[in-house]
Amino acid sequence: ISDAFELLRRADISLYRAKEEGKGRAIGYHAELDEERLRLLRLEDDLRAALANGDVTVVYQPLVSAATGALNGVEALARWFTASGPVSPEVFIPLAERSGLIDKLGMHVLQKSLQNARAWPGLKLSVNVSPIQLCNPAFASSVSRLLDDEGFDPSRLTLEITEGVLMTNPDQAKRAIDELHKTGVRFSLDDFGCGYASIGALRQFGFDSMKIDRSLVCAADKEGKGQDVLRATIALATALSIPVTAEGIETSAQADILRGAGCDQLQGYLVGRPMSAADITAFGEATAA
Ligand code: C2E
Ligand code: MG
Ligand code: MG
Repeated sequence: ISDAFELLRRADISLYRAKEEGKGRAIGYHAELDEERLRLLRLEDDLRAALANGDVTVVYQPLVSAATGALNGVEALARWFTASGPVSPEVFIPLAERSGLIDKLGMHVLQKSLQNARAWPGLKLSVNVSPIQLCNPAFASSVSRLLDDEGFDPSRLTLEITEGVLMTNPDQAKRAIDELHKTGVRFSLDDFGCGYASIGALRQFGFDSMKIDRSLVCAADKEGKGQDVLRATIALATALSIPVTAEGIETSAQADILRGAGCDQLQGYLVGRPMSAADITAFGEATAA
């Protein structure tokens, strides 16, 4: 390289990648790092445009009673289809978080869900919230205003959050949860069992329910300690009167084990895949019949 600025730029890109992949490592510059960065920048522009055009849509996955199999509620999941195919939420949610688009995306998903859920008065609605949204001091009031504008009963809404925020910004998270609790909105701790969140954290932050992560559910019908850990976790939550939903159930053997362990609600491909609002209406009619 002839140019000192270019040298610094490359060093900087490599440094960022090294930080992203976890601290305490060195990564040398290679051309793919630039290509990857450009690809993400382009994707970010596309996402911004998609949000402006209403191209981010919402699908709904059934949540059923473990005891009766009746449809209790749905979880809203964001979807993004581009000209070159669908982009996974595992890609575009972190992208939205990094690029300041998550507040807009989150409120868009919430509004669409509130509107669609009006057709299902008997069902509860769960919506995922990014830790970044929860840490925005304006979050709680934006949500209450939207509920008001849409004329939606707050007690039908559950916000699902992952544990990350409890570590990074516990005070702001607690404030937002408390403020929304007053309006009747409920909170669920998502992906429980795949990180560090403890049962203590469930109580401390006032979670109304928890969702057991798919990784624990997968371990349920395999040899080893998986089933014991699962049972103990559910027993502890039940002892604290915290309802438990198990997610990612794919086999009837898993469903049986979770039901037996005292799980309250089931979710997964076995019960129903994420589907359009119209399909949820049909699903509700079919399971009620
Ligand atoms: P999550 O909230 O834990 O949602 C469950 C994920 O598991 C969904 O993936 C769902 O499609 C998938 N899933 C459900 N049942 C099964 C099963 O039986 N087997 C398998 N293998 N997978 C199953 P999806 O839709 O790709 O979403 C991934 C994650 O992206 C979500 O995990 C959530 O953390 C995030 N996400 C999705 N939509 C939103 C959103 O609107 N806002 C925010 N902040 N995050 C979202
Ligand atoms: Mg969720
Ligand atoms: Mg989850």
